[in-house]
Amino acid sequence: MFAQSTFADARSLYKDALFVIFGVPFDATSSFRRGSCEAPDAMRKASYNFETYNDYYGVDLTDVDMHDPGDLDITPDLRAGDVLCMVENAVAGILADSKIPIVLGGEHTLTYGCIRAFLDAFDDLGIIILDAHLDLRDEYLGAKQSHACVSRNIIDDLTDRCTIIGVRSGSAEEYIYARENGVLWYSADEVSCAGIESVMRQAIDALSDRGATRFHLSIDLDVIDPGYAPGVGNPEPFGLSPRDVRDAIRVAAPQACGLDVVEISPPHDNGESAIIGARLVREFIAARVTHL
Ligand code: MN
Ligand code: MN
Repeated sequence: MFAQSTFADARSLYKDALFVIFGVPFDATSSFRRGSCEAPDAMRKASYNFETYNDYYGVDLTDVDMHDPGDLDITPDLRAGDVLCMVENAVAGILADSKIPIVLGGEHTLTYGCIRAFLDAFDDLGIIILDAHLDLRDEYLGAKQSHACVSRNIIDDLTDRCTIIGVRSGSAEEYIYARENGVLWYSADEVSCAGIESVMRQAIDALSDRGATRFHLSIDLDVIDPGYAPGVGNPEPFGLSPRDVRDAIRVAAPQACGLDVVEISPPHDNGESAIIGARLVREFIAARVTHL
């Protein structure tokens, strides 16, 4: 019997696994309310709520080889830059073994480390970020490696093959930066009007025009309306539904090479947000394995 300290159905040895699910309990730059360091274990516990069988895909997750090695050892003395290097190394190792990494955050900052590793492995990578926030600040509270700057750092330092979907919050400067620099972003209102599938296809087409043929999906759970997912670091009303995000996963899955789920803050709800996060991870696995 596997302890509930692993993600449900992650019973394979590392060498046999197609998917490797690991946690990054890091929330040191969180600005409004902390707690995302508790999210990896909250998602693992929540993952046992669900049936192993996904009828939409006809996939039973007990038939899928996945491995959960636990969490990166994030100690309080580590700076954000150190954590990003640890995340980059962990993701790089998984990619070098031709496996699909799934990262349980933690705050959104860590996605930057993931993307460095993905871009090292794939020069045709695009990044699809689902987020209420633009995260395009140049710096925040004196820090450049902050959850509020993650999209800016990716676009400034790494690649313009990046899109942000579900946006409804940013400073005037962030919106100006987005417009002046050709940032690909789609508002939550556009998702509401056009539907998530249409927006996802527009986003994938736009990234493809810039040379992307495979995608990392980064889900900042605050993209979902706080009525559904109140336990996040920076809740923002007028958001997407959990079904929208599930359907975004379904559209992206055929070309997806990785997933991160970040910004869940378990102390701030009764488990709802971790339940959604865990379910989205399970949907991603079922969707992705169908297209292998
Ligand atoms: Mn974010
Ligand atoms: Mn956000």
